[in-house]
Amino acid sequence: MKAYILDIDGVIYRGNNLIDGAVGAVNRLQDHSKVLFLTNNSTRSRASVATRLKTAGIPCEADDVITAGYATAVYIRKHHGASTVYPIGEAGLIKELQAAGHKISEDARFVVVGLDRDFNYKKLRIGLQNITNDAKFIATNTDPVLPTENGFVPGAGAIVSALKTASGKSPLVIGKPNQPIMDIVIDHIGLNANKCTVVGDRLDTDIFAGTRCGMKTALVLTGVETLDSLKRSDIKPDIVIESIKELLAASKGDE
Ligand SMILES: [Mg+2]
Repeated sequence: MKAYILDIDGVIYRGNNLIDGAVGAVNRLQDHSKVLFLTNNSTRSRASVATRLKTAGIPCEADDVITAGYATAVYIRKHHGASTVYPIGEAGLIKELQAAGHKISEDARFVVVGLDRDFNYKKLRIGLQNITNDAKFIATNTDPVLPTENGFVPGAGAIVSALKTASGKSPLVIGKPNQPIMDIVIDHIGLNANKCTVVGDRLDTDIFAGTRCGMKTALVLTGVETLDSLKRSDIKPDIVIESIKELLAASKGDE
């Protein structure tokens, strides 16, 4: 049995638009392999991601999805038990924190920062107050930008940087390419790393996450990276394909 670990933004969707051929390509992978969706985007809950994929024609349950928001909630639960959390993030992050038994509070033991498209000065101030009072600073991810149908928009990393600047502290980062989310992925898949292929559009998150865990990696050019950025990077994927549509043909050699 092989497994494919698929990033979503820039691989299946660009913003709200499906990438041409992506649904058919994922369906073909699902015919003969285990497919797990792995996203640093914390704005949606796992259930909401699954519903969105299902509506697009990709069979998917919440359990087939790991988001950086879910991974963060699970990480805090596993290492510190049910806790109080001040989230700077959207509904999907709050839902996952609550599902893991955490309580949302403005006076909390943890400040968790993810992508928040309603980010404002007040949230930054409350986040800073908590960190000043010794709350632990955790970031779901630090992606600088997000590819959408209208070009790039600021990612969670830009918001994390604001709180990092204000507090002078660096967060623990849960999402790709870091070990906390990959530990959860490996647990979840239950297959040896060499049976897994990570497919993503970012070298410093998706591809680096895969290579450092001993997984195969495939870079798609439908998101953040270009052949130019690939040339300049030290992170080298096993294969480079125009889009996920070409994945099966490109990986035939190692069937
Ligand atoms: Mg992506």
